[in-house]
Amino acid sequence: MTEYTKITLDESEMPTQWYNIIPDLPAPPPPPLHPGTHQPIGPDDLAPLFPMALIGQEVSTDRHVDIPGEVLDIYRLWRPSPLYRAHRLEKLLDTPARIYYKYEGVSPAGSHKPNTAVPQAFYNAAEGVRKLTTETGAGQWGSALSLACAMFDMECEVWQVRASYDAKPHRKTMMAVWGATVHPSPSDVTNAGRTILAQDPDSPGSLGIAISEAVEAAAADPTVKYALGSVLNHVLMHQTIIGEEALLQFAKIGETPDVLVGCTGGGSNFGGLSFPFLREKLAGRMSPTIRCVEPAACPSLTKGVYRYDFGDTIGMTPLVKMHTLGHDFVPDPIHAGGLRYHGMAPLVSHLYEMGLVEAEAIGQLECFDGALKFAKTEGIIPAPEPTHAIAAAIREANRAKESGEERVILTALCGHGHFDLKAYEDFLGGHMVDYEYPAEKVAAAMERVPVIED
Ligand SMILES: *Cc1c(COP(=O)(O)O)cnc(C)c1O
Repeated sequence: MTEYTKITLDESEMPTQWYNIIPDLPAPPPPPLHPGTHQPIGPDDLAPLFPMALIGQEVSTDRHVDIPGEVLDIYRLWRPSPLYRAHRLEKLLDTPARIYYKYEGVSPAGSHKPNTAVPQAFYNAAEGVRKLTTETGAGQWGSALSLACAMFDMECEVWQVRASYDAKPHRKTMMAVWGATVHPSPSDVTNAGRTILAQDPDSPGSLGIAISEAVEAAAADPTVKYALGSVLNHVLMHQTIIGEEALLQFAKIGETPDVLVGCTGGGSNFGGLSFPFLREKLAGRMSPTIRCVEPAACPSLTKGVYRYDFGDTIGMTPLVKMHTLGHDFVPDPIHAGGLRYHGMAPLVSHLYEMGLVEAEAIGQLECFDGALKFAKTEGIIPAPEPTHAIAAAIREANRAKESGEERVILTALCGHGHFDLKAYEDFLGGHMVDYEYPAEKVAAAMERVPVIED
């Protein structure tokens, strides 16, 4: 047993490669399909949206990919990020478990998202792209990409889900400070946005709708490309810097995790933390249980169906095989905006199908109850998304207490909640509600998922 509270790495110890889990899997994930022909897509199909370097990473079978020096220089502004042992939370819970959290809120944007925004902007800039477009739910990804574009002197145009645009004006200002243009989504500047507004002028928006708008804007101009903050293979790979650092930090104190829990919206912070540990597990060097935690109101893994579906609402993106609730399903407005996505990363879905990771869904009241316990003991106010991971860690710690087992729990505290205080205000004021799983809405959306013979 150790007495460490904050386990740090020196700059010189920061990993210099990302980890690609695909070559280590028993089988590769099914390929993305062209939305029209239903045939596997090739690089040419993706070229209007992404630079060649990222398309190459998306299909790469190299186990390790070198992080470019320009990216490492920017990572060093906040990396390596600290790993904490939650001594004071453990004491409050009166548990024999040891709880560790890897804190990504130390980045300038306040979450793990810059870990991929910076390399995405770098590779686009290197190929002469003038501007990036994107969507943002809670505002975290839009902030991260705005920051990254500023650092590589590129323009950035963001479609922010209407509900969060209205609820979080400071995120919008943050993006504007870094030089981005921000639209509420659905907007009247794209065909996709106008189509949705014609059906529902008061639409609160969704990530799927915002993706349709950003993709449309990028596809229309050869000097503009699109960036996605989660879901894709290359995004999850960029995030593995989190898990590679955590492995080194655990090695320093001679611990190995028994349970790893992470919140999953599109799967990037979860994949980033867990894939290097899964590599160790597949190689027989440790055996942690690895679990995804999703919101009860948008449970793509635990309630969704594993099949080909669109990544966006309108149906412009390639078809990807994933756990989905239906591409036009609009989840209830829970506070964890970053977890309101109808699908799950194809890579995480594939791991779940193979039984290499587990999943559970938790309602937001239990999550915020856990977040208050965490904030009062550990000090950091978590973003609404990782409150799901905290609630799952607390469940594990309570199980350890019941069984009297010493258990080592690891989670990613993937962002702070300084721009999410409205959610805490609602919770403290007793105004927060748990939403029932919207079975009928999901069933209706699933009827509109294309049928693919495979
Ligand atoms: C975007 C975001 C998420 C959800 O995205 P993942 O790809 O699942 O990580 C979770 N937490 C925070 C803080 C985010 O910004």
